[in-house]
Amino acid sequence: MRTKRRVNMRCFLKRFPKKLVFAITLIFFTITLWGDIGITGDMVGRVSDFNSKDVNVRVLEGRITTGVVVTAVGPYSVIFGSKNIFVESEKCFITAGVGGGLILKIGGREFRTSKAVKIVLVASAGEGTLIVALDNVSAKPITHNYRGELKITNDAGVVAIINIIPLEEYLCSVVASEMSTNEMEAMKAQAILARTFAVRNRGRHKKYDFCDKTHCQHYGGAGLETSRSITAVRETTGKVLLFDGAVASVFYHACCGGMTTSPAYVWGGDEFPYLKPVKCQRPGGGGYLCGKSRHFRWEATITSDEMRSLIADAFGVSARGAKLKIMLRDPSGRVFEMEIMGTERRVITGEEFRIAVGRALGWGRIKSALFEMKIGGDGYRFGGSGLGHGVGRCQLGAIELSRLGWSYVDILQFYFPGTVVGEFGGEI
Ligand SMILES: [Zn+2]
Ligand SMILES: [Zn+2]
Repeated sequence: MRTKRRVNMRCFLKRFPKKLVFAITLIFFTITLWGDIGITGDMVGRVSDFNSKDVNVRVLEGRITTGVVVTAVGPYSVIFGSKNIFVESEKCFITAGVGGGLILKIGGREFRTSKAVKIVLVASAGEGTLIVALDNVSAKPITHNYRGELKITNDAGVVAIINIIPLEEYLCSVVASEMSTNEMEAMKAQAILARTFAVRNRGRHKKYDFCDKTHCQHYGGAGLETSRSITAVRETTGKVLLFDGAVASVFYHACCGGMTTSPAYVWGGDEFPYLKPVKCQRPGGGGYLCGKSRHFRWEATITSDEMRSLIADAFGVSARGAKLKIMLRDPSGRVFEMEIMGTERRVITGEEFRIAVGRALGWGRIKSALFEMKIGGDGYRFGGSGLGHGVGRCQLGAIELSRLGWSYVDILQFYFPGTVVGEFGGEI
């Protein structure tokens, strides 16, 4: 369900005495007018000027233990069932009820509900955000700021939060969460990719559109926005990457190590004509665009013991002296197939190996599937290139192209040949 804040505000206002409505309306218009004057000389400023459809993002999953504490910059309302509670400044404590539902504590009052709870800033809060503090046992609670609305439910005994936020406002945080550079053309390319991904992959999860992790796109809320990420989103508003008139399937990663690869080699499945291996080199010669990166070349070791438990845990092959061997490489040089010889034979992909090592030993060890491997001494020695899966846009290469004066359109067409940047006409 995609509700608009304006509609909710109308419902909310109906429930309040006329004097209060008048006062809130007056404050609202004063702030709006002031804001409008404020942006005439500065077209970059406010995130709330964006006008776009909402997306539903599940936030903080796996990080909430006992419950959450919600406050806001300015007054807010807590809506559930037939109740609509106006909260001036108190905190709203929310925990999951035993056997379902939610328990709310607001300024000494306690409520129980089996319905979803919606938390909405009232208009007078202007540019404010809703603040969620994790109610974990901690001297210093960790807080996160969100624009838009929060929908809170009890999901199998755990407090679940969905942030309902206009797409363009969501992107201001995603762009900054995924990338940090002074190079504005690279930032704009990132904004296009983030928007293209969001438009194409909406509804990626069953009950909501996106998670806030890298599975979808990293989204840290309003606290991570920067003036550069807001500018990048604003100056590309509504634009996506298109191929043959359809929204393209896009991927991006940190450092390709010299050449990008096709998604079919990494995850299997479809091939796309605009997602072929691209040499990350300045056309007409010159060094690698991402060559200055500390991830461009790397070395790592994995001891025999580490490898043995890794192979057993991740791939179910348990034998002393199990051997690992590179069998096939893809056209970019990445390891495509590896063979594990133990009590049984197992063939895995290089990407599966990278992910397994990342989960077991940390993501800084085997940074990509573009590596050489030697067995000797106390285990396995690796020499590799790049960071990430290597499909689509290389972030460090894009930053270098921006530095060389390329536009965001040229940067995108370099990594996604045959695509164009255009307005997305349909509904997201
Ligand atoms: Zn996800
Ligand atoms: Zn690169």
